[in-house]
Amino acid sequence: MIKIINLTKIFRTESVQTTALNEVSLEISQGEFVAIMGPSGCGKSTLLKIVTGVLSPTAGNIQIEGKVSALLELGAGFNEEYSGIENIYLNGRMMGYSRKEMDERLNGIVEFADIGDFINQPVKTYSSGMFARLAFAVAINVEPDILIVDEALSVGDIFFQNKCFKKFDELKRNGVTILFVSHDIGSVRQMCSRVLWLDHGTVRAFGEAAHIC
Ligand code: ADP
Ligand code: MG
Repeated sequence: MIKIINLTKIFRTESVQTTALNEVSLEISQGEFVAIMGPSGCGKSTLLKIVTGVLSPTAGNIQIEGKVSALLELGAGFNEEYSGIENIYLNGRMMGYSRKEMDERLNGIVEFADIGDFINQPVKTYSSGMFARLAFAVAINVEPDILIVDEALSVGDIFFQNKCFKKFDELKRNGVTILFVSHDIGSVRQMCSRVLWLDHGTVRAFGEAAHIC
């Protein structure tokens, strides 16, 4: 469950002030699959970062029940000098898993990422698509209650995207709540129950996917 009340986020730099989110309120139940849509700069990433706890809001309130696993902008939570394997353990530690618990998950993650021997190479040698594969494989294999995916999938190849969509279906059946940013009306219509349409930091609409699309 995610409950957001009058959430406002204002970024202040020396010369400008940007209201990235302006009194956003919404409620998402467990097991819902929600897409966040809207043009660049409308506040999608800011909202996801606040839900994940990477950013704190300027005003308003957010309540979350369940363990959140997030795939934000590429690079967040990874050390690029470390190998893929080492980064899997690093991420596990940040999610609160012991080494032994990650040992049990390692095969599943490596298999899902499917990047061959690159898994033993430093992450800085990866293409953005390979990186997306690794980051996604980690995010879905730590049994989250809430999975958050920013635009990361758009850098992946079509085969990997399809594999991710299948995985979303499986997670959805298991009652995982998914919040996902996408510009792809077709897959949103197909997969999501509701769509949050943001416009200049305000909620333009939040309703049934077929209708909003
Ligand atoms: P989206 O993900 O929908 O493209 P963002 O949430 O990244 O949009 O950004 C919303 C607005 O907030 C934009 O106008 C952006 O320039 C501004 N913004 C985002 N992050 C920062 C930051 N760290 N400092 C200043 N302004 C920011
Ligand atoms: Mg964004």
